[in-house]
Amino acid sequence: MTARTYAIRTFGCQMNEHDSERIAGLLEADGLVPAVDTDAADVVVLNTCCIRENADNKLYGTLGRLKTAKEERPGLEIIVSGCLAQNDREELQRRAGHVDVILGTHNVHRAVELLHQSRETGPVLEIWDEALEEAESFPSALAVRREIDYSAWVSIQIGCDNTCTYCIVPSVRGRELSRPFGELVAEVRRLAADGVHEITLLGQNVNSYGRDLTLARRELVDDTDADIEIAGTEWTGDGSRRIRPLFADLLTAVSSVEGIERVRFTSPHPKDLRPETIAAMATNDAVCNHLHLPLQSGSDAILTAMHRGYTAERYLEKLAAARAGIFDLAVSTDIIVGFPGESDEDFERTLEVAAEAEFDLAFTFIFSPRDGTVAATHTDRFIDPEIVGARYKRLHTVTERSALAKHRARIGRVEEVVVEGVSRRNEQMLSSRTRQNKLLHFASASPLRPGTRASVLVTDAGAHYLSGELVEVLAAPRHRTRIPVSAG
Ligand code: SF4
Repeated sequence: MTARTYAIRTFGCQMNEHDSERIAGLLEADGLVPAVDTDAADVVVLNTCCIRENADNKLYGTLGRLKTAKEERPGLEIIVSGCLAQNDREELQRRAGHVDVILGTHNVHRAVELLHQSRETGPVLEIWDEALEEAESFPSALAVRREIDYSAWVSIQIGCDNTCTYCIVPSVRGRELSRPFGELVAEVRRLAADGVHEITLLGQNVNSYGRDLTLARRELVDDTDADIEIAGTEWTGDGSRRIRPLFADLLTAVSSVEGIERVRFTSPHPKDLRPETIAAMATNDAVCNHLHLPLQSGSDAILTAMHRGYTAERYLEKLAAARAGIFDLAVSTDIIVGFPGESDEDFERTLEVAAEAEFDLAFTFIFSPRDGTVAATHTDRFIDPEIVGARYKRLHTVTERSALAKHRARIGRVEEVVVEGVSRRNEQMLSSRTRQNKLLHFASASPLRPGTRASVLVTDAGAHYLSGELVEVLAAPRHRTRIPVSAG
């Protein structure tokens, strides 16, 4: 008997991509195999995101096509998961009766059980309003089918306790929950033993990692076993140490795991960037010299309206401290243009701060209201789209200029890279990542497998890439496998 097949379409951020890996792992544990032809898959999973613009239109468009496919192939089963399902559950149920399972952000681990249930009872909707404080809440904690075998995401925290007024994440992902320190270190050890040499620690606000563990530890303060689980033996070894592990402690612990050569993380909130984190980045060789530090606006008035918790000056101070402390640091950022009430002066301030910060890379976004957020209710302060468009272009000019200058400054250097695969634009070239997280294309006479480490001389640069010549191969990967999980 041939095995049933599955395909997953992922919309949104790395959190969602990691959730998709986990759903893939659960489906494979249930006997399904990845579909070679995704249009012919027996089970289709749409893992949704409501942060991006038009996310709902894209989802309903895809569901319309799947309805036709299901009429032709009644055995086709459809699962919709993720933030949009969490947020728009009734709407989704009303508009897409052909969906077999709708599940939210807190019960991803139930995907297969709910699929089985739907076969008995018909369409199932199960959304939890809160995560359980248990291992299943963390996408890394269960069977995961990784997309790339040399590299893995490790979810260290779910949810967010901040209240940025434009952001829907706190209402769809819930309050902040940190995964116990000891569990995380054990997970990274398992990954390293499995051939992974690069990890990315994931959380909405990684710098606040461990804040909630303080309370948990206080409740269990006389229980040594619980201490070890929450804090880890590495961390509790010194009785004089703090009552909770900091993100810096975690960085140090995971970068000390044998076999782990690159540690990345996303995203840190500027207000919570502590000197300890900078010191941990500076002193642990495995931690990559790249920091994503979302600015969002250079205007203090807009930062206050956004509830960001820092001023532009404070942001620049933290940035300067990071650059002073960490050798050869690359910095990327996110900036929103046209937030409700943004005046010409506010925008000029953003231009000034962006120019002063000299980012290596900036993700610039035009404000778009998200239902359920405070900012979306300020319709009287929305900015004329033409004005916003013109501002966006000016900001783009500033951020592209600094990106190009940063990239050109690498010409003539030899970079240590990890090969990602054949370049999408030129099959003769390989694409790779430097430790600064820059994309570097180079030609190689022999094919190099993804995960290969090499040194490459940089010979040319654009605002978003470097190109160069192979100097030498440093190490071959231990293995590589891919599954059809595509980002949308
Ligand atoms: S820190 Fe702000 S922008 Fe980031 S997830 Fe939390 S609320 Fe959203």
